[in-house]
Amino acid sequence: MSRFLSEKYKGLTPYTPGEQPKERKYIKLNTNESPFPPSKKAVEYAARAAESAELYSDPEAKRLVAKLSELYDVSPECVICVNGSDEVLNFAFMAFCDRDNGAIFPNITYGFYSVFASLNGVPYTEIPLDDQFNINVEDYVGKNKTIFIANPNAPTGIALSLDEIERIVKSNPDNVVVIDEAYVDFGAESAVWLTKKYDNLLVTQTFSKSRSMAGARLGFGIGSPALIADLNMIRYSTNPYNVNSMTMAAGLGVLEDEEYTRENCKRIMENREYAAGELKSLGFSLTDSKANFLFAKHEKIGGGELYSKLRERGILVRHWQKPIISDYNRITVGSLGQMQALIAAVKDILEEKK
Ligand code: PMP
Repeated sequence: MSRFLSEKYKGLTPYTPGEQPKERKYIKLNTNESPFPPSKKAVEYAARAAESAELYSDPEAKRLVAKLSELYDVSPECVICVNGSDEVLNFAFMAFCDRDNGAIFPNITYGFYSVFASLNGVPYTEIPLDDQFNINVEDYVGKNKTIFIANPNAPTGIALSLDEIERIVKSNPDNVVVIDEAYVDFGAESAVWLTKKYDNLLVTQTFSKSRSMAGARLGFGIGSPALIADLNMIRYSTNPYNVNSMTMAAGLGVLEDEEYTRENCKRIMENREYAAGELKSLGFSLTDSKANFLFAKHEKIGGGELYSKLRERGILVRHWQKPIISDYNRITVGSLGQMQALIAAVKDILEEKK
């Protein structure tokens, strides 16, 4: 830390991203990326856009917004495009929270929420999940706080129903409820259509998971025109060119290739069920994940030990030291071949423990 750092950031603990090691080729099951390449159309469009990279990107992302609004059946003023959904989540903390209007979210959830709260000087309360890692909906009813919920939740993968989401949104009419749908395409129900009914609901999604574009950094938010106008005000006050032209074009390409996305999601869900079944038969307990990852623990081996042993065998998964979840690992669902390699390695590790 330099002696120049602003007082307000001195206590900040930044988010720790999953490892992206380059020294060795790992089977990467640690950051919930897609095992499939981006759509060919996305790559083609991005390459074409690169030829005009001397120009700034469209600050209104008009074509992309139009395509998203068509696909999600909302009007264009209900959509904002961002540099990865992390950006719109940060914007939401900036726009809808302050010292007097704090945030609430589960104690086990996406680690960036508490970082964004601290970054923006927003007081926050973490609501404990129940002992099965479920969100208790009643804990979020009539709270008078800005609410952040990942649905499905991370790293558990457990999803709330649309009725449960609606109960939370309806009971907090004077506060924004942000539903982070980064993983919704793998089997949960999207709350997008509820944004037409409730002006306090913001839904965020990403191109990083189901659309195989994590490295391109593209996300979006859907909400009432007034909420989106607030977020755009923040965006124009930070970086109007937040989405670069290559990414914007790639986004359009993949949206014109929805069948590819749907097919990939189907394959991930099949691979998830395969891997979950195998892990269960090896004695693992798993949450009911509706995401592109599994959350698993085994009585005979600690979470940290399994993580290290898999790493030695060239497989990366995600492990947290946080006591409530330290017995677990979060394992990204990859290709069938990757899942088979994972199962073989796990069998080997368990055999060694005998
Ligand atoms: N929300 C959740 C729950 C996530 O796990 C992630 C990915 N780490 C994000 C949002 C952000 O994704 P991105 O910025 O790549 O869109």
